[in-house]
Amino acid sequence: MNVFKRFSDRGLRTQIALVFGALVVGLAVLLSLGFGELLKHRIQRDAGASLQVVAENAGKLLAIGLMQRSLEAEVLAGAEMVWSKGLDSPEAQHMLARSQAMQPTNVWIGVADAQGVVRNATGGLLAGQSVAARPWFQSGLRGVHVGDVHAAKLLEKLLPPMASGEPYRFVDFAAPIRIGPTTVGVLGIHGSWEWTREVLETLTPPTSENSAVELFIFDRQGQMILAPHGRASALQAAGQRLPAGTHVNNNRGGGHTQSAVVQWQDGKRYLTAATQLQPRNAASDLGWRIVARQPVELAFAEADHTVRLALLIGLAAALFASVLAWLAARRLSVDLYALADAASAVEAGRPGSDIPAVHSNREVRQLSQALGRMTHRLLAAREAMEEKVRLRTLELEAANRALDLQARTDALTGLLNRRGFESQMAFALALARRSSRPLSLITVDVDHFKRVNDTYGHEAGDEVLRRLARTLESRLRGSDVVARLGGEEFVALLPDTDLAGAQAIAQALVTTMADQQDPVVGTITVSVGVATMRGQESGADILRRADRALYEAKGQGRNRVCVET
Ligand code: GH3
Ligand code: MG
Ligand code: MG
Repeated sequence: MNVFKRFSDRGLRTQIALVFGALVVGLAVLLSLGFGELLKHRIQRDAGASLQVVAENAGKLLAIGLMQRSLEAEVLAGAEMVWSKGLDSPEAQHMLARSQAMQPTNVWIGVADAQGVVRNATGGLLAGQSVAARPWFQSGLRGVHVGDVHAAKLLEKLLPPMASGEPYRFVDFAAPIRIGPTTVGVLGIHGSWEWTREVLETLTPPTSENSAVELFIFDRQGQMILAPHGRASALQAAGQRLPAGTHVNNNRGGGHTQSAVVQWQDGKRYLTAATQLQPRNAASDLGWRIVARQPVELAFAEADHTVRLALLIGLAAALFASVLAWLAARRLSVDLYALADAASAVEAGRPGSDIPAVHSNREVRQLSQALGRMTHRLLAAREAMEEKVRLRTLELEAANRALDLQARTDALTGLLNRRGFESQMAFALALARRSSRPLSLITVDVDHFKRVNDTYGHEAGDEVLRRLARTLESRLRGSDVVARLGGEEFVALLPDTDLAGAQAIAQALVTTMADQQDPVVGTITVSVGVATMRGQESGADILRRADRALYEAKGQGRNRVCVET
């Protein structure tokens, strides 16, 4: 979860580079491991096949050698003409000597009579001694014999020591000597085991040391009887037998190679191929297994090297792909950042900001175009909205002003109403006090107005009120404030007018009204009270005093002016 979060916090180019890199690394590892396995398989097959060939060639050479020697014994034993002159005749002696000269690895060639007493031998060795108990003699009486490898017994002391210092080991060959139907003796050959070593070494020349191919021979019981560099006794003492898991090719499987990777007694793993010695005649069927081996690390060295190389190439490719991906993603992300910056500028309302047209690829181009169109529409819509709001505000202000005027205006006469009058009065009072000028006030009330209503109707009464309003306006100055306080009662505020001035104006008003003759209601008179501003008193106080004066005028018979006392 955390990893995903951290990944999604990364920039687009890093993300793409990471994904590509991981992908190519994964692919490289998978491919090189896969190829490595494949290669190992093939190399095992090939190396196994060549090991198998080495083992089989060794087997063939040994088989031929064994057959030749057994033939040699047979041929020598079959020289009836020589043997008929006596087993110990000089001719027989001569023949044995010549035979050994031809094959020096035949360390001893000798003849024993039917009782097992040696009658003739190369170098005269063992002459006169009994070999009746020896296996080669016993089976040699019956027919051609090839004996398994064994340590020298009687001959050890008689022969010069071996160059390698190892004890003598022999392979015995024997054949019966017959004169007519009678078996008169046995011809025996002790072939030096060194001969086998020579055969094997011709197959694993010193040049093969690099590949470390080694050849071994195990006998029928699985005992090691030959190892390179004379190590057979040491290995055998360490318990090395034919390693389990070794496939022994018995040449009956149609020539299929059967090499296998097998652990040997030294704990190391070797590619191992084995073949069974194929006897050329029944006598030489010793059941030997010839085994060729090569250390696995050497056999697979090439494969390991190739896998490492493939991995290295894969990693380099991953790096290269990541860089390429990063570069490609940068082109894209540069455009996206430009779009984001432009969008922020538009959002902040920076003048002249616009969505730029970008072209790094089709999707980004489409995105930038769509964003541009959207921005233009939004900006246009915002402007239209602002214009609308401005207009609405103006309308609202006008309506407010109208409403305000309405609230301060008397609907019947168009004069100020009580509320409108009060604000004007406060303003006039403050002005008069600051400028220390007089301010007077007159209140006007229609006389017996109830009668007008009762006699001529409400409509006629309204008309009387409208006429009185017009008379008030025309009789007074523009700076005077005239208002209808309610019913048929009016008020006039007279700035810069003292009590006497106000009384004169009031009297003129009363006279004017009394002089007017209405065609419907006849003459309408008014009574007027006059008061003037004194000290710090409020507008309401002045109005109360003027009202008292008006009440006084009513009391004195109406159609007159009364001044406050
Ligand atoms: P006085 O001489 O004592 O002032 O007597 P008056 O009848 O004028 O006074 P009163 O206060 O008894 O009567 C006032 C009348 O004014 C009562 C009312 O019906 C009438 N009136 C008040 N407002 C209006 C209006 O707006 N239009 C009309 N037509 N009559 C109104
Ligand atoms: Mg009244
Ligand atoms: Mg009245």
